[in-house]
Amino acid sequence: MEVLDSGIIASGKKVKEFEEKFAQYVGSRYGTAVSSGTTALHLALLACGIGPGDKVITTPFSFIATANSVLYCGGEPVFCDIEEDTFNIKTESIRALLEKEKGVKAILVVHLFGLCCAIEEIAALAREYNVLLIEDCAQAHGAAYKGKRAGSFGKAGIFSFYPTKNMTTSEGGIVLTDDEKVCEKVSLLRNHGMPGEYEHTVLGYNFRMTDVAAAIGLGQLEKLDDFIASRRSNACFLDEHLGKLPGIKIPHIPSSDYYHVYNQYTIRALHDREGLMRTLKENGIGNKIFYPALIPHQPLYKERGIDKGEYPVAAKTAKEVLSIPVHPALKEEDLKRIVETIGEYSKLKA
Ligand SMILES: *Cc1c(COP(=O)(O)O)cnc(C)c1O
Repeated sequence: MEVLDSGIIASGKKVKEFEEKFAQYVGSRYGTAVSSGTTALHLALLACGIGPGDKVITTPFSFIATANSVLYCGGEPVFCDIEEDTFNIKTESIRALLEKEKGVKAILVVHLFGLCCAIEEIAALAREYNVLLIEDCAQAHGAAYKGKRAGSFGKAGIFSFYPTKNMTTSEGGIVLTDDEKVCEKVSLLRNHGMPGEYEHTVLGYNFRMTDVAAAIGLGQLEKLDDFIASRRSNACFLDEHLGKLPGIKIPHIPSSDYYHVYNQYTIRALHDREGLMRTLKENGIGNKIFYPALIPHQPLYKERGIDKGEYPVAAKTAKEVLSIPVHPALKEEDLKRIVETIGEYSKLKA
């Protein structure tokens, strides 16, 4: 209301305040807020110097925006298989690609569903092969590895504030970095490549965040830790009651070094996923497959001939995963109904 009453609703001091507070929360030096997670990815890659012909190693099992951002820059995504138990990109497969492929400029990791990937090992690989590490943290606000938050490991980290994420600004995104030059480039590109008034030095865009969105973000940021605590406690209940059911695999956390923030609670349904989805739907329980098809298997990628590799683990995963409710608005009776419904289904199938 303060922003609306001020009459100054475009990008202004709320955006600045939000950038500083969010960067501080994650543990990065600079934050540049933009219009979405997708535009954050696009500008982060451009600011890191990704351009025509550059290869970027990334995961085939993510939302399309991850790999599309490489295409926006004229680069080539090189897809790498994932780990069976965490759904995240697999370190040894990245190493194999770094050995095989020429012209790799960056590794773009995703901390999928709110769990950090093997970020320490992957950061070491990036150093060893002298390539950039960029983090897509669109699903990982507050996620951490050994107490260090997702988005603070790579050259740049991006977040989305779309309403389905762990916090929102309606639409919005941010690029975090410790590198002043990257920060400057992102802010230049975000606003028509305009360092001074009506002086345009590079081909920029209008990817700005508004003060209205930033004000929502400031309110949400104050609640983020509570949102995460609810998600974790809901996940804990689901783990306890679904963990021993036949035919169901609950989310796996490699060790206590990983702080999972459960943007999604994603199980593997080993038999008849369609049947489980039907049963949940009949009982009024929301559920969704993230993601039913691998990015390289999408028509756009097929058509462009980008589907070169083999990703057997990712392909199997896409056939088994199912995300069920874990959001902070769930009540105890909702959680009970979820586990009872899945429990009955699992008995029928066993
Ligand atoms: C949501 C999401 C994005 C895109 O963010 P938008 O704000 O919707 O543009 C990118 N990557 C991943 C992994 C996402 O989940």
